[in-house]
Amino acid sequence: MRAPTRYDLDRDQLAELLAGEPRYRVDQVWQGLHDQGLAPSEITSLPKGLRERLGDELPPALHPVTESTSDGGDTVKFLWELRDGSRVETVLMHYRDRSTVCVSTQAGCAMACSFCATGQAGFERHLSAGEIVEQVVRARRVATDASPSRRVSNVVFMGMGEPLANFANTWAAVERIHGDLGLGARHLTLSTVGLVPGIRRLATAGLPVNLAVSLHAADDELRDELVPINRRYPIEQLVAACEEYHSATRRRLSLEWALIDGVNDRRTDAAGLARIARRLRAHVNLIPLNPTPGYPVRGSSRTRVGAFRAELEDLGVNVTVRDTRGSDIDAACGQLRAGHEATPVRLSPGRSES
Ligand code: SAH
Repeated sequence: MRAPTRYDLDRDQLAELLAGEPRYRVDQVWQGLHDQGLAPSEITSLPKGLRERLGDELPPALHPVTESTSDGGDTVKFLWELRDGSRVETVLMHYRDRSTVCVSTQAGCAMACSFCATGQAGFERHLSAGEIVEQVVRARRVATDASPSRRVSNVVFMGMGEPLANFANTWAAVERIHGDLGLGARHLTLSTVGLVPGIRRLATAGLPVNLAVSLHAADDELRDELVPINRRYPIEQLVAACEEYHSATRRRLSLEWALIDGVNDRRTDAAGLARIARRLRAHVNLIPLNPTPGYPVRGSSRTRVGAFRAELEDLGVNVTVRDTRGSDIDAACGQLRAGHEATPVRLSPGRSES
């Protein structure tokens, strides 16, 4: 068991740590950490001795290694080193009316999807709830420091790792982000490769978060190849679990589909996907394939992406095409591999650890 870090403690545990101090200190520290994203040393309303003690006893989980930006500053990728030396990444994306943080739930990933860089690099370990929550707090602070009007309103669990393979810690992080950081359940999205027992558990967990499922193929033969966990949880079981989730939560599901040239972008693929999407009343999110070092196949051309979209729409399906944000800094879907980059990432000047 690793020692707890700054955001691993809940409020009761913080109160225990502050036993002997006046009671209002608990609120001061809690608000400083959660509402403002301050390090204990920055909570100036605390006496100096207490700031120092909390600095030692509540160490940060994340140490910044690099921060790279693209899309004219609208996409920021953070590479963090954890206390045991593992590395993970977080991506902050600014849109006109909101900012979204994409968090990692594991260092590496054991799911081994062939076209995903995280999967190609293998599994290291689960992240703790505090390690997940701190990604949001840190990214949020960077967003508001850059521009006070920028509010992080959405969190997507779409970074490194399979959230439902680390269910307890991921769910604890969801509850903390909801309760302690104040983001509504409809602004939180978990993405899964399709772990059926995890989807079932999610259906009864109590907070109706959005669910995205990385489908990528509509028949078992192709999905076995692209997403190997399909051999354990084939499409029919997956779709049945999604139906359960939908009827338990009434949340709209989305189906993610990375378009791979000549592999899953044919007319028959669109027809198979449309059948599943209609059955689930799900939204389809097409992802133009982002290049990864270990997968030689190309993404579908822009023309083909457009045609595939039109085919789905003709079949009565709601579709969006995800933008390829951050692909030049390996921050786009499927490109996160935490410092295992072939080329060094750029470090933006002037940011130091708080
Ligand atoms: N493990 C979870 C969370 C990761 S989300 C999941 O699989 O859903 C990342 C999304 O990007 C997933 O939909 C994943 O399948 C997709 N992806 C992986 N590699 C990609 C690539 N090279 N190009 C585009 N999308 C990719």
